[in-house]
Amino acid sequence: MTAIVEVNNVHKSFGQNEVLKGIDLHVEEGELVVMIGPSGSGKSTFLRTLNQLETIDEGQIVIAGWDLSDTKTNINKTRENIGMVFQHFNLFPHLTVLENMMLAPVELGKADKATAKENAYKLLDRVGLRDKADARPATLSGGQKQRVAIARALQMNPKIMLFDEPTSALDPEMVGDVLDVMKQLSNEGMTMIVVTHEMGFARQVADRVVFFADGYIREAGEPNELFAHPKDPRLQDFLNKVL
Ligand code: ADP
Ligand code: MG
Repeated sequence: MTAIVEVNNVHKSFGQNEVLKGIDLHVEEGELVVMIGPSGSGKSTFLRTLNQLETIDEGQIVIAGWDLSDTKTNINKTRENIGMVFQHFNLFPHLTVLENMMLAPVELGKADKATAKENAYKLLDRVGLRDKADARPATLSGGQKQRVAIARALQMNPKIMLFDEPTSALDPEMVGDVLDVMKQLSNEGMTMIVVTHEMGFARQVADRVVFFADGYIREAGEPNELFAHPKDPRLQDFLNKVL
């Protein structure tokens, strides 16, 4: 096995506020890592550094062999290998589902229109939304929008998918459908890093759970072990609150 994501000693501050205080994380190809932790502990900032939406102050990030701090690394190329799904779906409201899906691959010259369209239909099938191809985002439920957002990220054929609280903005009855799509994606071999408060999902499908607090990874491990026998007092406290 080779690590597709290698993070070594990453530090990041916003002004005086040191948010990441030396993060180390290696993720193997095909692995599903769930990140949990209190609000403000740096989870989103960490995910954003992987996609170069944030710069880092110190340390090293290597994604699929590309060292992000190497000035010779083509940032757009590495970014194409990483799909990102956010809490809010960020679909373009004036475009249909199909147009939303075709936009990036066509604009970036990754596919011609016909190919992008064909791929879009395949991916919409995969998330169970082919019949919504011509709908506008405003007519979809939150769960449907999030499934479109996942399908759209897959259009670029990424090697890694990052999810930042993908179900936090959804009504409870929508959460299961989105988690099912994510499970399926993981079963198909996608490498995934998922920030979530869905502890059931973490327990069932994560290969590894990583606990963030105060800018550090305080504990990491196989989910059953980590949930049953948390060692770090901050993790014990956190689990008491969320479970
Ligand atoms: P989490 O996702 O775990 O809730 P975040 O990574 O969003 O945590 O935030 C960690 C800390 O970094 C918080 O104190 C937050 O206010 C701060 N922060 C995040 N983004 C910025 C930014 N762009 N500018 C200044 N501070 C930020
Ligand atoms: Mg966050």
